[in-house]
Amino acid sequence: MTTEIIPVDDFDLVIFGGTGDLAKRKILPALYRRMCAGQMPRTARIIAAARSDYTNVQFREFVRESIESFAKSKACGTDLIGTFLKCISYVKIDALGDEGWDALKNTLRKDVVQAYYFSVAPRLFGPIAQNLKQRKIAGRDARIVVEKPFGRDLKSAQELNQVLGTCFHEDQIFRIDHYLGKETVQNLMALRFGNALFEPLWNEQHVDHIQITVAESLGVEGRGGYYDKSGAMRDMVQNHIMQLLCLTAMEPPSQFDAADVRDEKLKVIRALDPVSPDDIIRGQYVGAEESQGYLAQSGNSDSNTESFVALKVGISNWRWNGTPFYLRTGKKLRHRMSEIVIVFKDPPHSIFPEADDLKGNILTIRLQPDEGIELTMTIKEPGPGKMRLTQVPLDMSFAEALADKVENMPDAYERLIMDVIRGNQTLFMRGDEVEAAWGWVDPIIAMWDAKQDVKIKPYDIGGSGPDDALMLMHRDGRKWREIAP
Ligand code: NAD
Repeated sequence: MTTEIIPVDDFDLVIFGGTGDLAKRKILPALYRRMCAGQMPRTARIIAAARSDYTNVQFREFVRESIESFAKSKACGTDLIGTFLKCISYVKIDALGDEGWDALKNTLRKDVVQAYYFSVAPRLFGPIAQNLKQRKIAGRDARIVVEKPFGRDLKSAQELNQVLGTCFHEDQIFRIDHYLGKETVQNLMALRFGNALFEPLWNEQHVDHIQITVAESLGVEGRGGYYDKSGAMRDMVQNHIMQLLCLTAMEPPSQFDAADVRDEKLKVIRALDPVSPDDIIRGQYVGAEESQGYLAQSGNSDSNTESFVALKVGISNWRWNGTPFYLRTGKKLRHRMSEIVIVFKDPPHSIFPEADDLKGNILTIRLQPDEGIELTMTIKEPGPGKMRLTQVPLDMSFAEALADKVENMPDAYERLIMDVIRGNQTLFMRGDEVEAAWGWVDPIIAMWDAKQDVKIKPYDIGGSGPDDALMLMHRDGRKWREIAP
């Protein structure tokens, strides 16, 4: 089976913050790989805009290094680097000043798709949008891509939406959450809505509970100052985990398009119950030596910011009332691993005397490190003798026919940037969705702020979080899945 790649329309993509970490590690390599795949037209142009002094020649050298370090794969060597570098130019711009805007305007073509990627600090999102609008650089068809974090609470998200909304229409604004670009996240929708098998069971009658885990093995790694003002709730739950929860819990949209999918996600967020204090555990990692712990690494010895959070969440609607969603995320845990686990109810009655504790099926949708889907089934243990039962994973690895596609699977940024050029917003967050998510998260953070004396639970580096997080499940007679590679 061959992969049919349809090139996108010709485009000019301006990357504000083109010299930054995200551009270097993700955005530029993603574009290069799309050129290797034949999806990025060779006439397309990438214009990096940032504050540093670079000539075009110097910046192309920066791009070459970025590709050599971050873009190579079996399917994409370095043969096309020369061709790719010809697409690149650099404009020195100060987002908060007058420098560079005229030069940028003169560089851009009018007859191709125009996209502007805001890969800069959030305080610059508004000023850049305003400059693009007021200086008449971006037209009605232009698109802007806005990185996370989108606000730090409901008020700031509303303000940002308001500023962007005065400069661009909602159909021009692409709020990126790279989790939505992951293959398995889209596979979750294919699995749910492309098979008649699961949907009838996808509700409180048949699902005992759902677990969503986003575990990181790294700590704050030099971003301690930034992270300490944010914490796991803002950094992970409000955006990535909320998106995974929405896609897992939403009703079938009538079409797989931006309006319908985002309408359904919004309904889920609006149906989330407020979380009781007993259903939230916050943790902070501690090391064998003080210097390894969160307090030292965040540079704030009094910090009350969580590097781990676990929550039990209810959804008040017909589909999910009574089925809890357990969410957890943390840094410095045993492994880097993200997964959504649907734990189905146990069979109602066992006809096998040797096996009176029949277990429910478990469907695991793994996002990282190895994207894939697994369903555990109960079968008879092979061999003569009694009817003994065992649980085995049903092999749902992709068929051999898909092997080459799996190997060359685009990463999330590749897919999402190409979606921007195509003007497809399905995998991006709408303004009202982001606000609704903050509206749910804000009272939780306000509750913590009001109880500064309640100490965060310590947990050991390399474990699975505080013991209290295990208790959150145990007290309900349930168990977290192992954080395993
Ligand atoms: P960075 O600090 O490495 O880069 C910032 C870029 O902004 C640089 O190119 C710098 O020259 C430019 N810049 C700074 N001030 C400017 C000004 N006044 N005018 C014009 N350009 C200016 O930041 P980063 O890590 O690349 O992050 C960029 C954005 O992406 C942030 O919003 C961040 O939250 C988000 N993000 C980053 C990552 C990541 O892995 N780095 C992941 C997710 C989201």
